[in-house]
Amino acid sequence: MKLASRVAALSPSTTLAITAKAKELKENGHDVIGLGAGEPDFNTPDHIIDAAVKAMKEGHTKYTASAGLPSLKKAICNKLLSDQQLEYQPNEIIVGTGAKFVLYSLFQVLLNKGDEVIIPIPYWVSYPEQVKLAEGVPVYVEGKEENEYKITVEQLEQAITPKTVALIINSPSNPTGMVYTKEELEAIGELCVKHNIWIISDEIYEKLVYSGATHYSIAQVNEQVKDKTILINGLSKSHSMTGWRIGYAAGPKEIINSMTDLASHSISNPTTIAQYASIAAYEGSQEPVEMMRKAFEERLDVIYEKLVIIPGITCIKPQGAFYLFPNAKKAAELTGYSNVDDFATALLEEALVAVIPGSGFGAPNNIRLSYATSLEQLETAVKRIHEFVESKM
Ligand code: PLP
Repeated sequence: MKLASRVAALSPSTTLAITAKAKELKENGHDVIGLGAGEPDFNTPDHIIDAAVKAMKEGHTKYTASAGLPSLKKAICNKLLSDQQLEYQPNEIIVGTGAKFVLYSLFQVLLNKGDEVIIPIPYWVSYPEQVKLAEGVPVYVEGKEENEYKITVEQLEQAITPKTVALIINSPSNPTGMVYTKEELEAIGELCVKHNIWIISDEIYEKLVYSGATHYSIAQVNEQVKDKTILINGLSKSHSMTGWRIGYAAGPKEIINSMTDLASHSISNPTTIAQYASIAAYEGSQEPVEMMRKAFEERLDVIYEKLVIIPGITCIKPQGAFYLFPNAKKAAELTGYSNVDDFATALLEEALVAVIPGSGFGAPNNIRLSYATSLEQLETAVKRIHEFVESKM
Protein backbone atom coordinates (compact mmCIF):
# COMPACT_ATOMS: atom_id res chain seq x y z
CA MET A 1 0.00 0.00 0.00
CA LYS A 2 1.34 3.41 -0.92
CA LEU A 3 1.17 5.82 2.01
CA ALA A 4 2.55 9.32 2.46
CA SER A 5 6.32 9.51 2.76
CA ARG A 6 5.99 11.48 6.00
CA VAL A 7 4.61 8.44 7.79
CA ALA A 8 6.97 6.02 6.10
CA ALA A 9 9.83 8.00 7.66
CA LEU A 10 8.43 7.70 11.18
CA SER A 11 10.46 5.52 13.54
CA PRO A 12 8.21 3.08 15.32
CA SER A 13 8.22 3.50 19.07
CA THR A 14 10.87 1.26 20.64
CA THR A 15 8.87 1.12 23.82
CA LEU A 16 6.02 -0.53 21.97
CA ALA A 17 7.94 -3.67 21.03
CA ILE A 18 8.85 -4.46 24.62
CA THR A 19 5.42 -3.50 25.92
CA ALA A 20 3.76 -5.80 23.36
CA LYS A 21 6.09 -8.63 24.34
CA ALA A 22 5.36 -8.05 28.05
CA LYS A 23 1.64 -8.13 27.35
CA GLU A 24 1.97 -11.37 25.43
CA LEU A 25 3.89 -12.98 28.31
CA LYS A 26 1.29 -11.78 30.80
CA GLU A 27 -1.54 -13.18 28.70
CA ASN A 28 0.25 -16.50 28.72
CA GLY A 29 0.15 -16.53 32.50
CA HIS A 30 3.63 -15.18 33.29
CA ASP A 31 3.97 -12.89 36.26
CA VAL A 32 5.62 -9.98 34.43
CA ILE A 33 6.35 -6.75 36.30
CA GLY A 34 6.15 -3.78 33.96
CA LEU A 35 8.47 -0.87 34.67
CA GLY A 36 7.69 0.80 31.39
CA ALA A 37 4.84 3.04 32.50
CA GLY A 38 4.95 6.68 31.52
CA GLU A 39 2.05 7.67 33.73
CA PRO A 40 1.34 7.96 37.45
CA ASP A 41 -0.31 4.86 38.93
CA PHE A 42 -2.74 6.93 41.05
CA ASN A 43 -6.28 7.68 40.02
CA THR A 44 -7.20 11.28 39.24
CA PRO A 45 -8.10 13.03 42.53
CA ASP A 46 -11.80 12.84 43.40
CA HIS A 47 -12.57 16.54 43.38
CA ILE A 48 -11.40 16.72 39.75
CA ILE A 49 -13.59 13.80 38.74
CA ASP A 50 -16.52 15.40 40.59
CA ALA A 51 -16.00 18.63 38.67
CA ALA A 52 -16.18 16.73 35.37
CA VAL A 53 -19.43 15.03 36.38
CA LYS A 54 -20.88 18.36 37.49
CA ALA A 55 -19.87 19.99 34.19
CA MET A 56 -21.63 17.27 32.22
CA LYS A 57 -24.76 17.50 34.34
CA GLU A 58 -24.81 21.26 33.88
CA GLY A 59 -24.73 20.84 30.13
CA HIS A 60 -21.10 21.75 29.43
CA THR A 61 -20.98 19.16 26.72
CA LYS A 62 -20.55 21.39 23.65
CA TYR A 63 -17.64 22.84 21.67
CA THR A 64 -15.49 25.52 23.30
CA ALA A 65 -13.18 28.14 21.82
CA SER A 66 -10.34 26.43 19.92
CA ALA A 67 -7.65 27.71 22.29
CA GLY A 68 -9.66 26.55 25.31
CA LEU A 69 -12.15 27.94 27.80
CA PRO A 70 -11.32 31.52 28.88
CA SER A 71 -11.77 30.45 32.51
CA LEU A 72 -9.26 27.64 32.11
CA LYS A 73 -6.75 29.94 30.40
CA LYS A 74 -7.20 32.36 33.31
CA ALA A 75 -6.61 29.51 35.80
CA ILE A 76 -3.41 28.64 33.91
CA CYS A 77 -2.26 32.29 34.01
CA ASN A 78 -2.88 32.33 37.76
CA LYS A 79 -0.94 29.10 38.19
CA LEU A 80 2.03 30.41 36.20
CA LEU A 81 2.02 33.58 38.24
CA SER A 82 1.76 31.97 41.65
CA ASP A 83 4.07 29.01 41.02
CA GLN A 84 6.68 30.65 38.82
CA GLN A 85 6.08 34.39 39.05
CA LEU A 86 5.51 34.39 35.30
CA GLU A 87 3.03 36.90 33.97
CA TYR A 88 1.04 35.74 30.94
CA GLN A 89 -2.21 37.04 29.49
CA PRO A 90 -4.94 34.59 28.40
CA ASN A 91 -4.20 35.39 24.74
CA GLU A 92 -0.69 34.03 25.30
CA ILE A 93 -2.07 30.61 26.30
CA ILE A 94 -3.41 27.74 24.20
CA VAL A 95 -4.91 24.64 25.75
CA GLY A 96 -4.65 21.48 23.68
CA THR A 97 -5.26 17.76 23.81
CA GLY A 98 -2.27 16.92 25.98
CA ALA A 99 1.20 18.44 25.95
CA LYS A 100 2.06 15.99 23.19
CA PHE A 101 -0.35 17.50 20.67
CA VAL A 102 0.55 21.01 21.82
CA LEU A 103 4.19 20.24 20.99
CA TYR A 104 3.19 18.68 17.69
CA SER A 105 1.26 21.78 16.65
CA LEU A 106 4.05 24.06 17.85
CA PHE A 107 6.51 22.39 15.48
CA GLN A 108 3.97 22.65 12.66
CA VAL A 109 3.74 26.37 13.31
CA LEU A 110 7.44 27.12 13.85
CA LEU A 111 9.27 25.06 11.27
CA ASN A 112 9.87 25.27 7.55
CA LYS A 113 11.51 22.51 5.57
CA GLY A 114 15.13 22.05 6.64
CA ASP A 115 14.89 24.16 9.79
CA GLU A 116 16.98 22.72 12.58
CA VAL A 117 15.85 21.96 16.11
CA ILE A 118 18.45 21.14 18.74
CA ILE A 119 17.43 18.13 20.81
CA PRO A 120 19.50 17.11 23.82
CA ILE A 121 20.24 13.39 24.14
CA PRO A 122 18.77 11.47 25.98
CA TYR A 123 15.47 12.75 24.61
CA TRP A 124 11.78 12.00 24.98
CA VAL A 125 10.98 9.71 22.04
CA SER A 126 8.42 11.97 20.38
CA TYR A 127 10.60 15.08 19.90
CA PRO A 128 12.59 13.88 16.87
CA GLU A 129 9.54 12.38 15.18
CA GLN A 130 7.45 15.50 15.71
CA VAL A 131 10.23 17.69 14.31
CA LYS A 132 10.51 15.42 11.26
CA LEU A 133 6.75 15.47 10.75
CA ALA A 134 7.04 19.24 10.44
CA GLU A 135 9.86 18.76 7.85
CA GLY A 136 12.40 20.00 10.36
CA VAL A 137 15.79 18.44 11.05
CA PRO A 138 16.67 17.20 14.55
CA VAL A 139 20.21 18.15 15.58
CA TYR A 140 21.35 16.09 18.54
CA VAL A 141 23.59 17.27 21.35
CA GLU A 142 24.64 14.62 23.80
CA GLY A 143 24.17 15.30 27.49
CA LYS A 144 27.10 13.38 28.92
CA GLU A 145 26.73 11.05 31.86
CA GLU A 146 29.51 12.91 33.69
CA ASN A 147 27.39 16.08 33.38
CA GLU A 148 24.25 14.32 34.67
CA TYR A 149 23.07 13.88 31.06
CA LYS A 150 22.62 17.63 30.75
CA ILE A 151 23.99 19.65 27.85
CA THR A 152 26.42 22.49 28.44
CA VAL A 153 26.26 25.93 26.95
CA GLU A 154 29.54 25.24 25.09
CA GLN A 155 28.04 22.17 23.41
CA LEU A 156 24.97 24.17 22.52
CA GLU A 157 27.00 26.96 20.94
CA GLN A 158 28.81 24.43 18.77
CA ALA A 159 25.54 22.95 17.52
CA ILE A 160 24.00 26.27 16.48
CA THR A 161 23.98 26.96 12.74
CA PRO A 162 22.22 29.63 10.63
CA LYS A 163 19.40 27.10 10.21
CA THR A 164 18.78 26.62 13.94
CA VAL A 165 15.25 27.66 14.81
CA ALA A 166 14.70 26.13 18.24
CA LEU A 167 16.13 24.27 21.20
CA ILE A 168 14.15 21.83 23.33
CA ILE A 169 14.75 21.80 27.07
CA ASN A 170 12.96 19.17 29.13
CA SER A 171 13.52 19.64 32.85
CA PRO A 172 12.83 17.53 34.87
CA SER A 173 13.76 15.13 32.12
CA ASN A 174 12.15 12.04 30.74
CA PRO A 175 14.07 9.69 30.65
CA THR A 176 16.92 10.79 32.94
CA GLY A 177 15.06 12.50 35.79
CA MET A 178 17.70 15.24 35.80
CA VAL A 179 16.82 18.82 36.64
CA TYR A 180 18.63 21.84 35.18
CA THR A 181 19.71 24.44 37.75
CA LYS A 182 18.82 28.11 37.61
CA GLU A 183 22.41 28.97 36.64
CA GLU A 184 22.48 26.41 33.82
CA LEU A 185 19.20 27.72 32.45
CA GLU A 186 20.39 31.31 32.66
CA ALA A 187 23.42 30.51 30.52
CA ILE A 188 21.37 28.52 28.00
CA GLY A 189 18.64 31.15 27.88
CA GLU A 190 21.05 33.99 27.25
CA LEU A 191 22.77 32.07 24.46
CA CYS A 192 19.45 31.41 22.76
CA VAL A 193 18.53 35.10 22.96
CA LYS A 194 21.93 36.02 21.49
CA HIS A 195 21.34 33.69 18.53
CA ASN A 196 17.62 34.46 18.24
CA ILE A 197 16.58 30.84 18.83
CA TRP A 198 13.22 29.75 20.20
CA ILE A 199 13.35 27.83 23.46
CA ILE A 200 10.76 25.10 23.78
CA SER A 201 10.61 24.38 27.50
CA ASP A 202 8.78 21.15 28.26
CA GLU A 203 7.95 21.35 31.96
CA ILE A 204 5.45 18.50 32.17
CA TYR A 205 7.29 16.96 35.18
CA GLU A 206 7.50 20.31 37.00
CA LYS A 207 5.72 19.12 40.14
CA LEU A 208 7.77 15.94 40.53
CA VAL A 209 11.05 17.03 42.08
CA TYR A 210 12.90 15.37 44.95
CA SER A 211 15.77 15.60 47.41
CA GLY A 212 15.29 19.32 47.84
CA ALA A 213 15.68 20.06 44.10
CA THR A 214 13.53 22.89 42.79
CA HIS A 215 12.01 23.33 39.39
CA TYR A 216 12.95 26.54 37.66
CA SER A 217 11.50 27.57 34.32
CA ILE A 218 13.87 29.01 31.74
CA ALA A 219 11.18 31.64 31.11
CA GLN A 220 11.96 32.98 34.59
CA VAL A 221 15.51 34.01 33.59
CA ASN A 222 14.50 37.47 32.31
CA GLU A 223 12.03 39.16 29.95
CA GLN A 224 14.15 38.63 26.82
CA VAL A 225 14.45 34.91 27.52
CA LYS A 226 10.75 34.71 28.31
CA ASP A 227 9.96 36.38 24.97
CA LYS A 228 11.87 33.61 23.19
CA THR A 229 10.32 30.80 25.23
CA ILE A 230 7.29 28.67 24.56
CA LEU A 231 6.52 26.98 27.85
CA ILE A 232 4.78 23.62 27.61
CA ASN A 233 3.03 21.99 30.53
CA GLY A 234 -0.12 20.09 31.42
CA LEU A 235 -1.91 18.07 34.03
CA SER A 236 -1.04 14.54 32.98
CA LYS A 237 1.82 13.96 35.37
CA SER A 238 1.15 16.52 38.10
CA HIS A 239 -2.52 15.66 38.68
CA SER A 240 -2.47 12.10 37.36
CA MET A 241 -4.68 13.06 34.43
CA THR A 242 -3.01 11.33 31.47
CA GLY A 243 -6.29 10.11 30.04
CA TRP A 244 -7.99 13.49 30.15
CA ARG A 245 -5.63 14.87 27.51
CA ILE A 246 -5.12 18.43 28.62
CA GLY A 247 -1.87 20.32 28.07
CA TYR A 248 -1.01 23.90 27.24
CA ALA A 249 1.52 26.26 25.72
CA ALA A 250 2.33 29.73 27.04
CA GLY A 251 4.24 32.03 24.73
CA PRO A 252 4.20 34.94 22.27
CA LYS A 253 0.68 35.60 21.02
CA GLU A 254 1.60 35.39 17.31
CA ILE A 255 2.66 31.78 17.87
CA ILE A 256 -0.39 31.05 20.04
CA ASN A 257 -2.66 32.56 17.36
CA SER A 258 -1.21 30.34 14.65
CA MET A 259 -1.48 27.29 16.86
CA THR A 260 -5.11 28.25 17.49
CA ASP A 261 -5.77 28.44 13.73
CA LEU A 262 -4.24 25.01 13.38
CA ALA A 263 -6.37 23.68 16.24
CA SER A 264 -9.50 25.14 14.66
CA HIS A 265 -8.91 22.95 11.61
CA SER A 266 -7.67 19.86 13.40
CA ILE A 267 -8.99 19.17 16.91
CA SER A 268 -11.53 22.08 17.07
CA ASN A 269 -10.98 22.25 20.82
CA PRO A 270 -9.69 20.09 23.66
CA THR A 271 -12.46 18.04 25.28
CA THR A 272 -14.85 20.38 27.04
CA ILE A 273 -15.45 18.15 30.05
CA ALA A 274 -11.75 17.65 30.62
CA GLN A 275 -11.27 21.41 30.49
CA TYR A 276 -13.81 21.90 33.29
CA ALA A 277 -12.06 19.21 35.28
CA SER A 278 -8.76 21.03 34.70
CA ILE A 279 -10.11 24.26 36.15
CA ALA A 280 -10.92 22.32 39.33
CA ALA A 281 -7.46 20.76 39.21
CA TYR A 282 -5.74 24.15 39.17
CA GLU A 283 -8.13 25.99 41.47
CA GLY A 284 -8.81 23.22 44.00
CA SER A 285 -6.60 21.70 46.66
CA GLN A 286 -3.05 20.88 45.57
CA GLU A 287 -2.68 18.38 48.42
CA PRO A 288 -3.12 15.31 46.19
CA VAL A 289 -0.29 16.59 43.95
CA GLU A 290 2.04 16.76 46.93
CA MET A 291 0.84 13.39 48.22
CA MET A 292 1.73 11.76 44.90
CA ARG A 293 5.08 13.55 44.76
CA LYS A 294 5.93 12.27 48.23
CA ALA A 295 4.97 8.72 47.29
CA PHE A 296 7.26 8.86 44.24
CA GLU A 297 10.11 10.21 46.33
CA GLU A 298 9.71 7.46 48.91
CA ARG A 299 9.80 4.78 46.21
CA LEU A 300 12.80 6.40 44.56
CA ASP A 301 14.75 6.46 47.81
CA VAL A 302 14.04 2.79 48.51
CA ILE A 303 14.71 1.30 45.12
CA TYR A 304 17.62 3.52 44.13
CA GLU A 305 19.72 2.01 46.92
CA LYS A 306 18.80 -1.51 45.80
CA LEU A 307 19.45 -0.78 42.14
CA VAL A 308 22.95 0.64 42.46
CA ILE A 309 24.29 -2.44 44.27
CA ILE A 310 23.54 -4.63 41.24
CA PRO A 311 26.85 -5.57 39.59
CA GLY A 312 27.48 -3.61 36.39
CA ILE A 313 24.74 -1.05 37.00
CA THR A 314 25.58 2.59 37.64
CA CYS A 315 22.95 5.23 38.13
CA ILE A 316 22.91 8.91 38.92
CA LYS A 317 20.18 9.56 41.44
CA PRO A 318 17.36 11.38 39.65
CA GLN A 319 16.00 14.61 41.08
CA GLY A 320 12.71 14.59 39.22
CA ALA A 321 10.06 12.82 37.10
CA PHE A 322 9.46 9.12 37.89
CA TYR A 323 12.18 7.31 36.00
CA LEU A 324 15.55 5.81 36.80
CA PHE A 325 17.95 5.74 33.86
CA PRO A 326 20.86 3.50 34.82
CA ASN A 327 23.81 2.75 32.59
CA ALA A 328 23.61 -1.03 32.11
CA LYS A 329 26.42 -1.54 29.59
CA LYS A 330 28.67 -3.27 32.08
CA ALA A 331 25.82 -5.45 33.35
CA ALA A 332 25.07 -6.49 29.76
CA GLU A 333 28.72 -7.41 29.23
CA LEU A 334 28.96 -9.29 32.53
CA THR A 335 25.92 -11.36 31.63
CA GLY A 336 27.10 -12.16 28.11
CA TYR A 337 25.04 -9.77 25.98
CA SER A 338 26.68 -7.69 23.30
CA ASN A 339 24.32 -4.77 23.77
CA VAL A 340 21.84 -3.34 26.25
CA ASP A 341 18.84 -3.92 23.95
CA ASP A 342 19.48 -7.67 24.13
CA PHE A 343 20.04 -7.43 27.88
CA ALA A 344 16.63 -5.72 28.22
CA THR A 345 14.96 -8.43 26.14
CA ALA A 346 16.54 -11.11 28.33
CA LEU A 347 15.40 -9.28 31.47
CA LEU A 348 11.87 -9.51 30.17
CA GLU A 349 12.00 -13.08 28.95
CA GLU A 350 13.98 -14.59 31.80
CA ALA A 351 13.57 -12.30 34.81
CA LEU A 352 10.05 -11.23 33.83
CA VAL A 353 10.79 -7.53 34.31
CA ALA A 354 9.91 -5.14 31.51
CA VAL A 355 12.25 -2.13 31.24
CA ILE A 356 12.61 0.20 28.29
CA PRO A 357 15.93 0.05 26.39
CA GLY A 358 17.67 3.42 26.27
CA SER A 359 18.28 3.17 22.52
CA GLY A 360 14.83 4.67 21.91
CA PHE A 361 15.92 7.76 23.84
CA GLY A 362 19.22 8.04 21.94
CA ALA A 363 21.17 6.45 24.82
CA PRO A 364 21.94 2.82 23.91
CA ASN A 365 23.94 2.10 27.09
CA ASN A 366 21.00 2.76 29.40
CA ILE A 367 17.67 1.30 30.41
CA ARG A 368 14.68 3.23 31.71
CA LEU A 369 12.79 1.99 34.76
CA SER A 370 9.62 3.76 35.76
CA TYR A 371 8.76 3.85 39.44
CA ALA A 372 5.13 4.69 38.77
CA THR A 373 4.14 1.39 40.33
CA SER A 374 3.77 0.09 43.89
CA LEU A 375 6.78 -0.14 46.16
CA GLU A 376 6.16 -3.84 46.59
CA GLN A 377 6.26 -4.46 42.83
CA LEU A 378 9.34 -2.27 42.51
CA GLU A 379 11.23 -4.13 45.20
CA THR A 380 10.40 -7.48 43.61
CA ALA A 381 11.40 -6.21 40.17
CA VAL A 382 14.77 -4.89 41.32
CA LYS A 383 15.41 -8.12 43.25
CA ARG A 384 14.68 -10.10 40.09
CA ILE A 385 17.10 -7.97 38.06
CA HIS A 386 19.77 -8.42 40.73
CA GLU A 387 19.33 -12.20 40.82
CA PHE A 388 19.29 -12.38 37.03
CA VAL A 389 22.61 -10.54 36.74
CA GLU A 390 24.29 -12.59 39.47
CA SER A 391 23.06 -15.87 38.05
CA LYS A 392 24.62 -15.09 34.67
CA MET A 393 28.00 -13.78 35.79
N1 PLP B 1 6.67 15.61 27.43
C1 PLP B 1 7.28 14.59 28.05
C2 PLP B 1 8.72 14.71 28.36
C3 PLP B 1 6.58 13.43 28.37
O1 PLP B 1 7.19 12.42 28.99
C4 PLP B 1 5.20 13.35 28.04
C5 PLP B 1 4.43 12.12 28.31
O2 PLP B 1 4.94 11.05 28.47
C6 PLP B 1 4.62 14.46 27.41
C7 PLP B 1 5.37 15.56 27.11
C8 PLP B 1 3.18 14.44 26.97
O3 PLP B 1 2.27 14.49 27.98
P1 PLP B 1 0.71 14.64 27.70
O4 PLP B 1 0.49 14.60 26.22
O5 PLP B 1 0.06 13.50 28.39
O6 PLP B 1 0.32 15.97 28.29
